Amino acid sequence: MSSSTVTSTPGFPGGTILGYPRVGPRRELKKAIESFWAGKTTADDVEQAAAALRTRTRTRLVELGLDPTDASIPSNFSFYDQVLDAAVVVGAVPARFAHLVDPTTGRLDLAGYSTIARGAGDDLPAEMTKWFDTNYHYLVPEIGPDTVFRFADDRPVREFVEALAQGVLTRPVLVGPVTFLLLAKAADGAPEGFSPIDRLADLLPVYAELLTALAAAGATWVQLDEPALVSDSIDATSEQAITALVQAYTALAGDLAKPTRPALLVAAPYGDLGAALPALAGTAVDGIALDLVRGCLPAGPVAGLETKVLVAGVVDGHNIWRADLGAALDRLDAARTLGAASVSVGTSTSLLHVPHDVEDEPALDPTLRAWLAFADQKVGEVATLAHGLADGRDAVADQLAASSAALANRRTAPGVVRPEVRERLAGLSDEAFHRGDYAARKAAQAAKLQLPPLPTTTIGSFPQTPEIRKSRAAHAKGELSTEQYEAEMRAEIQRVVTLQEEIGLDVLVHGEPERNDMVQYFAENLDGFAATQNGWVQSYGSRCVRPPILWGDVARPAPITVAWSAYTASLTAKPVKGMLTGPVTILAWSFVRNDQPLGDTANQVALALRDEIADLEAAGIGIVQVDEPALRELLPLRAADQPAYLDWSVSSFRLATSGVRKDTQIHTHLCYSEFGEIIDAIDGLDADVTSIEAARSKMEILEPIAEAGYPRGIGPGVWDIHSPRVPSEAEVTELLGAAVRSIAAHELWVNPDCGLKTRRYQEVTPSLEHMVAATKTVRATL
Ligand code: GLN
Ligand code: ZN
Repeated sequence: MSSSTVTSTPGFPGGTILGYPRVGPRRELKKAIESFWAGKTTADDVEQAAAALRTRTRTRLVELGLDPTDASIPSNFSFYDQVLDAAVVVGAVPARFAHLVDPTTGRLDLAGYSTIARGAGDDLPAEMTKWFDTNYHYLVPEIGPDTVFRFADDRPVREFVEALAQGVLTRPVLVGPVTFLLLAKAADGAPEGFSPIDRLADLLPVYAELLTALAAAGATWVQLDEPALVSDSIDATSEQAITALVQAYTALAGDLAKPTRPALLVAAPYGDLGAALPALAGTAVDGIALDLVRGCLPAGPVAGLETKVLVAGVVDGHNIWRADLGAALDRLDAARTLGAASVSVGTSTSLLHVPHDVEDEPALDPTLRAWLAFADQKVGEVATLAHGLADGRDAVADQLAASSAALANRRTAPGVVRPEVRERLAGLSDEAFHRGDYAARKAAQAAKLQLPPLPTTTIGSFPQTPEIRKSRAAHAKGELSTEQYEAEMRAEIQRVVTLQEEIGLDVLVHGEPERNDMVQYFAENLDGFAATQNGWVQSYGSRCVRPPILWGDVARPAPITVAWSAYTASLTAKPVKGMLTGPVTILAWSFVRNDQPLGDTANQVALALRDEIADLEAAGIGIVQVDEPALRELLPLRAADQPAYLDWSVSSFRLATSGVRKDTQIHTHLCYSEFGEIIDAIDGLDADVTSIEAARSKMEILEPIAEAGYPRGIGPGVWDIHSPRVPSEAEVTELLGAAVRSIAAHELWVNPDCGLKTRRYQEVTPSLEHMVAATKTVRATL
């Protein structure tokens, strides 16, 4: 076997981005793949639409200043998710989907690929969870001791070749082997103590084969993303992760590689590499990309970097504010002291998390627009900084001046600082954050609400039907008057209430028909936010969200939800649950101002919600749910940063919810399923009832909660609403049985995993019927 390295490392571009949005400026990919799922088009149609989108992306990136010949353009397309793609490339298809692999080609077609993501019949889809501290979700690979790794799909090679045919030498981007295994879960049936990372040595040859194939096709650089190394929350001690990292890159950059391999850029977005940096620098990889927005710069030279390119991620890939170019150049100068062979300019993360183009927002206030940089503007910033780095600051003096002027204007613009908001916050006493003894609250609420054991409810939204969307669009365009629109929404609420009564649910909701999105809706009704028209970002698969921009001090000009909830309560004798989105989630799913601590911004939102809750209570609403699905998402990746975060996030929730009487029941919904590590924080929220996602994990998630002796109400989801599958009554009964075995029945609630807005009534009605029937069965056993 010939031992090998690249004979001479090809030059790395002076500037690059770690990835670009994949769904398209008009969500072209979403539309293409959803019509394929709906059976309206063929896989070939989707492939064509996707190829056209990739071509458009490359053309655009060249226009924006990236060089088509130097591997500065990343090739990071995906039909659904890059982690699923990696699993498919290495042949790690979960056993229950193995029959979808074509026996002659050994490949999955687009339908098979989609099935892993979406499930089919009784075959549950791959589990979905949040990607680091972003609102992107990936599909969790399932790896067992017997998973056969093989180079099963050369899609990355085909996409590289496709770009080359267009005259663009791209840099293929893949999830690195260590992150792939660290994010994987043990496949069903794996023995106790098995961990997917144990299979690293078996996986590496497949990555080596892929790298060789890319080199043979002409790829000069390949980017392997290893964000797992910036996180302490991954299922490995960081020492183990570092050992795996060194093993992987010693192999891929050395022995395992064939005589020619592409140069390897290992990227570490979302945080700080810490001790993993010197370890990685000690391997023979050719470049390392650091996140210098979230991460810190080591104090001095790092041994091993002298032979490597350092891609300094100084342009924030995760937020939409225009960069302070002067400060970024200072940071680049500092990065030069690390002793790398060369320093290039990069984004801190892929631009996957920001919308395409500020120029595509004509309705946005021009003052605000001048403060922003979306993906395309960030590519421009990278190009400017690369120019400045190469030729000195004078070469980019105009751009530096424009950047400083925008920042100065932002500091002093009206609405950015509102004294009355600041004064109210400064004047709060400790009492504003506390509700008093839970036992007393529980008794008061039980007396008032008179609910059966295992009360049934939903998480808030009911299906957003095409009719609802049409009415909203017509109202937004001015084609439907506000009176007509509101009358239609009231009619919808009436239907949803009737349905819930027919099904026999105990605590009713209004269904949220009037909400375009649980964050956007509040953003539109609060001061300090702006909405975009085309600012879509991928959340999971084909799902996109349009995060609002939180740019100024937050205030509530008028009650927001009170009339809707009061109307709902007027239709039924059952308790109605009011529905709000919590401060942390409003921050997490917005692009938040970066000019003050997040905790200060969260408390401003909390005060607005506190006023809203007081108005709901005064209107006779006895239960208010404050959703905080993003509480876990914003948890800092490094353990050392977590206590401070948990402190401000929990406080802001308490500030929002502690103004109520003891007989008013506060619920929260956390969406998320992996929070063993934040169980104390959940306790700290002091909500009377907490609903969580639990169906896909088959209630395993209750273990840490039961172990911790969590003292208040809990509603583990018994129906995975992320898939169109209708759970059978028997299945729900079994899940509920498992729940009753780990949690005291008097604290247990019954609900789906999450809101129902993305589901159709043909799934919702039978699923809720099964849920209620299963509850009756289990109640009878208590
Ligand atoms: N109340 C929201 C809904 O039902 C909660 C959604 C969420 O947590 N993501 O849609
Ligand atoms: Zn949820």
